[in-house]
Amino acid sequence: MRRISVFGATGSIGQSTLDLLGRAPDAFGVVALTGGRNIAALAAAARAHRAEVAVTAYPECLQDLRAALAGSATEAAAGPEAIAEAAERPADLAVSAIVGAAGLVPGLRAAAQGTTIALANKESLVCAGPLLLATARAAGARILPVDSEHSAIFQALAGDDMASVERVIITASGGPFRDWPADRLARATPAEAVRHPNWSMGARISVDSASLVNKAMDLIETREFFGIPPERIEVLVHPQSIVHALVAHVDGGVIAHLGPPDMRHAIGYALNWPERAPLPVARLDLARIGALTFEDPDPVRFPALRLAREVMAARGMAGAVFNAAKEIALDHFLEGRVGFTAMAAIVEATLARMAAEPGFTSAPDRLEIVLDFDHLARMRAAEAARSLAGG
Ligand code: NDP
Repeated sequence: MRRISVFGATGSIGQSTLDLLGRAPDAFGVVALTGGRNIAALAAAARAHRAEVAVTAYPECLQDLRAALAGSATEAAAGPEAIAEAAERPADLAVSAIVGAAGLVPGLRAAAQGTTIALANKESLVCAGPLLLATARAAGARILPVDSEHSAIFQALAGDDMASVERVIITASGGPFRDWPADRLARATPAEAVRHPNWSMGARISVDSASLVNKAMDLIETREFFGIPPERIEVLVHPQSIVHALVAHVDGGVIAHLGPPDMRHAIGYALNWPERAPLPVARLDLARIGALTFEDPDPVRFPALRLAREVMAARGMAGAVFNAAKEIALDHFLEGRVGFTAMAAIVEATLARMAAEPGFTSAPDRLEIVLDFDHLARMRAAEAARSLAGG
């Protein structure tokens, strides 16, 4: 039996993971489950999977969690440090599926124990890729990608030497606003932005998909995870979300990874790796789908990909600043304080201002410096958001 911990168990990726674990109770046992404010879902999952420990990120929720777990064998704990301690419990695999930079520390602590990480939390790689990868390397921990494009690249690469790879192409659905003109985009509401045409995901990543900020994160994640130079990573808009990534080799051959848009494929692949096991995802019916189409992203309406390229060129703390600024910009958009297109402007202004900070060009190889830049960039992004909102 493989012992699994799930960080972000109450979220979209976490619940899909638990769905898979619940279908194979003899193959998997659950060590730690963590969540945020959704105490009912956290306690229900802990009971259903007989978790050793359930942790909420919020100390003020501990009493409710204890009450919800009364009579069960699951311990209750709370706070970011309790989540990090849960990451140190012996496990065969930790699913890193907290949303945002809050996923960085638990991922680092699990990697430092030598635990294999199934990584959905792309923010960890964007903010501190070198730190996470070096921590894992030093402890002999493997990192398996869960993000669909990166799982697709990983699978398409199986058995091939990176030296033969000429280009990697990741796809983007284009989101709900793919065809919207610029003036309509400026008026897009959060309710419209979370309505992803193909994928069912958490609200934050859905809005990031609509602005292509999610694809910008994916670009940086590809560079960090696979060590491919930015000029050899391309993005194609593919509205059907069936081809998730393509790996082009020096001999002209291109290997594509296809599958229906269901995150349980990539999660299940990581859970079962290096084996493959049957998964409850729909089977691909290409005749029914009929056509797979591809187009270049529009850099004018969606500036996020240009910003990602600037971040990759700048290196240093640029990834941590980009992530922090986009998280603050997203908060302001979701709260109705700035418009949809203002999010990219906030990120761009924050990057420009932070580039002058001492230490901006340092490698993100120490947690303290990454957290310092994360903190300062959040303040600067909030200032940029206030000035754009006119107050
Ligand atoms: P959700 O918003 O659905 O879930 C986020 C999870 O993180 C929840 O368990 C939430 O708890 C928890 N959480 C929120 N804030 C904190 C915090 N400060 N500290 C600890 N835990 C916290 O997100 P998704 O499942 O959509 O995404 C999770 C990660 O996976 C993200 O990094 C995302 O980019 C990545 N990803 C997601 C994909 C998807 O299809 N959803 C695809 C590829 C990558 P609660 O809800 O209880 O408050």
